[in-house]
Amino acid sequence: MKQQDKIYWIVLEPYVHVSFTGNEVFVYNTLDGSFIESGSKSIIELLHSITESPQGLVSRTGFFLEEETMKDFILQLRNKFMGDIIDTRLSQGSPIQLLPILNLQNSAERLKNDDERTVGENVFTHLHELLIFLDNPDTFPTKYYPTTLKGRIEEYPQINTGLNFPKIKKLLDQLPPAKKDLTVNFLMKDLLEYRDLDELISLLEKIPVKKKFSFHYTNSKIEAQTSQIMKADICLNMYIDFPVCENQLQSITKVLVQLSIKHECVFLIASDEDFQSAEDMITKYAIARYSFVPVYTGDNADFFKRNIFLSKEDILSQPVSMREIFIHQSLNVENFGKLALLPSGEMYADIFSKKLGSTSEYSLLELLYKAMDSNDSWFNIRSYAPCSHCNYQWLCPSPSSYERLLNRNNLCEIDNK
Ligand code: SF4
Repeated sequence: MKQQDKIYWIVLEPYVHVSFTGNEVFVYNTLDGSFIESGSKSIIELLHSITESPQGLVSRTGFFLEEETMKDFILQLRNKFMGDIIDTRLSQGSPIQLLPILNLQNSAERLKNDDERTVGENVFTHLHELLIFLDNPDTFPTKYYPTTLKGRIEEYPQINTGLNFPKIKKLLDQLPPAKKDLTVNFLMKDLLEYRDLDELISLLEKIPVKKKFSFHYTNSKIEAQTSQIMKADICLNMYIDFPVCENQLQSITKVLVQLSIKHECVFLIASDEDFQSAEDMITKYAIARYSFVPVYTGDNADFFKRNIFLSKEDILSQPVSMREIFIHQSLNVENFGKLALLPSGEMYADIFSKKLGSTSEYSLLELLYKAMDSNDSWFNIRSYAPCSHCNYQWLCPSPSSYERLLNRNNLCEIDNK
């Protein structure tokens, strides 16, 4: 029998991600990261038919293999273990091919369609970080917390006295008992300047969540509160910008190590020189727990382009799993499950988004539901241009606050609009 007279099933493996953007199709093996990009009309048409078919496959007579581009594509598909062609005479009926579809267990739409009680219970399981600003974010030095820059949507209500303790207590009292997977992170200008520090630490002792105090390394003399901090199991996050005052850094890290207080050094990196200096400090002072946070200062866009912007090679260097792709299609990985409380009592999903409401008006449960109901932060995904017409739309990380700060819709070298 001639090849043209044969009939073939054309199938894709269930771990293959296909995306159609503009005049191209992108076929991606989520297991090993291999891929095929094609602008051929017949290949695009074939893949459209396969992905739209309920069985996840189509049949074609052998004529379709006469086209060189198609033949080469099928060869690549087989070599990269992404699909196959099967002679229909060799199978009884069509092969069963289950193409993956987006069906996250607790996806937003499913939750929103449930009755109110179920929604509430589920929403609490999603909450995993509460960021509590004891001082207004825009009173912090720009490099410490870069919220004074363009990119913010709203002006924060100014409360000069900082967040009062009753507002914090009211909020934390609403947490379900034993919410151990939650981190409560208190951001403050100065650890000892917070007037209700003793009450706050006593409250935190009774709450079984992960606790952090975040402050600038120059603004702390922790000896006075040592025993309470240890008893409440609070981790101290010290923000370090450059140039570093080495004496202060050395003395505070020495005290923390001597007293065995949990701490982490968070280096705020605004240039290549900052990064080099941070590495030198880590070695010199044997800093055990540290992290680097790139900061946009308003005049270091070149540093960002060189070090933060993704290239095609970066995006395709590691396999992105089907689960990660589905998550990128449904929610913002950076923001999901986080809430930020400002000293005014206003709650935000993140401080670059619109406010959700005030804790004096709404319960924590209602504020969580508002975050679930908005597409602004938790569900801010790459559904807009230029990402919506890019092959790597769902491979790329979720949109971040850096895009807001840089006033851009993407963070890559691929489509620099
Ligand atoms: S950031 Fe957007 S435009 Fe850039 S590679 Fe990712 S999806 Fe494409």
